[in-house]
Amino acid sequence: MKSLSPLRPTLGLRLCVHLGTLITLILISFAILVGEYKEQKRRILDNYSVSMESKVRSSIGVYKKFSHYIYQQIVNNQEVLQLLEIAVAETGNKRDQARMKLYQLLKDNYQLLRAHNFRQLHFHFPNGDSFLRVHKPGKYGDNLFSIRESVRLANTQQRIVEGFEEGRIFNGYRFVYPITYGQQALGSVEVSLSMGSIIDLLVELYPKDDFQFIISQDAVDSKLFDDMKDHYIPSVLTDGYYYDKAVFEKHLRDVNHRNLIDQAKTYSSKLKPLFDKKESFSQAVSIQGKDYIISFLSIKNFKDQHVAYLISSSRDNLLGTLLQNYATYFILIIVVSLFYVWNIYSEFTHKKQLTYLSSTDFLTKLSNRNTFTENIQFEHAKSTSFNTTFSVILFDIDHFKKINDELGHNAGDDCLKELSELVSKKVRHTDTLARWGGEEFIILLPETPEESALKVAEAIREAIESNAFSLNRTVTVSLGVAEITPDDGNVDMVIARADEALYASKEAGRNKAKAWSSLKGNN
Ligand code: GH3
Ligand code: MG
Ligand code: MG
Repeated sequence: MKSLSPLRPTLGLRLCVHLGTLITLILISFAILVGEYKEQKRRILDNYSVSMESKVRSSIGVYKKFSHYIYQQIVNNQEVLQLLEIAVAETGNKRDQARMKLYQLLKDNYQLLRAHNFRQLHFHFPNGDSFLRVHKPGKYGDNLFSIRESVRLANTQQRIVEGFEEGRIFNGYRFVYPITYGQQALGSVEVSLSMGSIIDLLVELYPKDDFQFIISQDAVDSKLFDDMKDHYIPSVLTDGYYYDKAVFEKHLRDVNHRNLIDQAKTYSSKLKPLFDKKESFSQAVSIQGKDYIISFLSIKNFKDQHVAYLISSSRDNLLGTLLQNYATYFILIIVVSLFYVWNIYSEFTHKKQLTYLSSTDFLTKLSNRNTFTENIQFEHAKSTSFNTTFSVILFDIDHFKKINDELGHNAGDDCLKELSELVSKKVRHTDTLARWGGEEFIILLPETPEESALKVAEAIREAIESNAFSLNRTVTVSLGVAEITPDDGNVDMVIARADEALYASKEAGRNKAKAWSSLKGNN
């Protein structure tokens, strides 16, 4: 049984629109927040990478200046150049004597260099043959051009070659200076320091950070003396890299890197695609509930090929705070949204209650006169536009006054309620059954001609007559039926005809159902 006009948008629909809009807004806000968070996180990580790069560059810069100074002060002087001139010109004993003299001349200075982290001071002939390793004077004569591009370039192009280079004994920064005396090329000298030395300086300058170094296995395997290979241990952080054992052990003092290694398996799949790019990157990791940023600085050799990573890990508070801030924003959005939902919902239930009260008869819970009027007007508009029909049944309880008078007003009310419930079950859900006033009721039957409506009226009459009311007496009703006609200018006309038929039923002795068109003079 219908109660409200279909013209009125349902409250449920309006609630759905509100909620839909709200959910969309929450999702959009969430997407924006997540996007912003990721962008800020990327920026923070990039900053760590840039900062790591400048730390390393400044450390190497210090050594570079020092190395140039060594070259100018220790190598590029008359005494050394004369000995090299002899060495280049002579062979055999005379060359050996020149080597010994040069060694004696430089060994004290070399010790000084060692004290400042430099590892090698190595003279080569113009053809790349080793002349004197001040750090290892007994080993000379081997040719370096094939394995040490920097020595080849310094001699063939007569320029200073500097940068990271893998070597047979160690990997590090090398500064190779071509040596000339007058117009004569006397070969070159290499001043170099290991990656470990650079890390030593980094640790000294940035004591809060932890530094490590891994080198590509390809770079190491192709160059290293076989007996040096046990100086390396495979990195568990990623395949294809070694730790330099000495550097690794020396600097594995900080708990961060050890824990990072312990957790390497957890992070390896995350780190793998980043390692594959062979570029610098930073990664946030959480170790024992604390946030760290691990920065991997790509080390390129002087031919600009990526060969190693310098790794630094430092405690981070920025990312944690960032996450907290965004979580707070998100919670705030949820709280505001919940408040909004609660507001909409209470407004919805309030309106629903008001609508129910304004459209329903308080005693019988049937539709009231207003609702009936809205519905019949809608039905009338429909019948005019689409040429459909509808009928109206108006009925009134017979001698109801008697019930009130004899059994009391409350019994009368109960009777009205019971009767309403009974009739509700006799109509279709598309019909509107309403209390018209007092003990008078009305039914709107869409798509129903008078003849069918009369059958419904008759069924209602019978059902009421045969119903056992709690009053313990038979209750009857008189009914009048009328159908809309194309000539009806308004709904009052069809209601008036139903009233006329109802009056006729009363006149005919009550407990009757009559159709208006069957009344004398109407057909
Ligand atoms: P008839 O067969 O001609 O319709 O006689 P009747 O007694 O039913 O008609 P009448 O119009 O004389 O009396 C209707 C009575 O219905 C009078 C009124 O007090 C009573 N009534 C109207 N509304 C209510 C109500 O809400 N509750 C109760 N208990 N009685 C009501
Ligand atoms: Mg009556
Ligand atoms: Mg009456």
